[in-house]
Amino acid sequence: MRTAAGATLRRVPELPEVETVRRGLADRLPGHRLERVTLRRSDLRWPIPVAAVRDLAGRELEAVDRRSKYLLLRFSGDGAPIALVHLGMSGRLFLDVPKRARTPWEQHEHWRMDFGDRLLRYVDARRFGILEVTPAALLPEHRLLAHLGPEPLSEEFGAEVLFRSSRKRRVAVKSFLMDAQNVVGVGNIYASEACFRAGVRPGVAIQRTTRAQCARLADAVRSVLQDAIAEGGTTLRDYIGVDANSGYFQRYLSVYGRDGEPCAQCGTAIKRIVQTGRSTYYCPTCQR
Ligand code: ZN
Repeated sequence: MRTAAGATLRRVPELPEVETVRRGLADRLPGHRLERVTLRRSDLRWPIPVAAVRDLAGRELEAVDRRSKYLLLRFSGDGAPIALVHLGMSGRLFLDVPKRARTPWEQHEHWRMDFGDRLLRYVDARRFGILEVTPAALLPEHRLLAHLGPEPLSEEFGAEVLFRSSRKRRVAVKSFLMDAQNVVGVGNIYASEACFRAGVRPGVAIQRTTRAQCARLADAVRSVLQDAIAEGGTTLRDYIGVDANSGYFQRYLSVYGRDGEPCAQCGTAIKRIVQTGRSTYYCPTCQR
């Protein structure tokens, strides 16, 4: 994907894309019985617990939830196992409904879950994705989830939480928002966009922000993510597969990738800086 300014956006699935995928699966899979799991390899980012994954066969899929960028496929039966699926850098899930009689394996397709009349397929060129299984009871203490901060779209997160958790913290606003211990799922693009909507400089130390600025930041984080999800939900209907990499959100980007372009609010040229190795974009006039 390229913006008008020519910056190439990394197409890493972020929280809105994962939530879009979740909704697509949640509409189409619960109530269906997993008949067979096929693994083409025994590792992605880490080893896949092959026996536990195979043991999911025969169970009914009860729900598709999400924690941060992990999709949680909840299955019925003993131990109520949950399959944790993370899309990594380049993972994509496709749901074929109805399943075709013979679906050839794509390049970089690593596993399939066959639900009878529908087929869930995982494709990931860079193989940073994750497939693990945990009993539901152990989910809160799972090593990948235990340290995670609040969900940005839940009641756990908001103005007061952000204000209190950021006092005496010297890191920059944008870095704070991108740290999953503070709030999950705010990636590099959405962090820049949220700072713009809030009118807050991304490089300011978070401890120096006021209560009012924290309130605007919390609102901005939620609205940026919700707008992207809303757009993704619209796009999803046009796809046969459930594709995290549709690239639908770029039209929402006010500052990201737009250095040198006039700010839509005030006309000042958008600036680009580098913070902890990542590009940050902001309007020097609108953001204080
Ligand atoms: Zn501006």
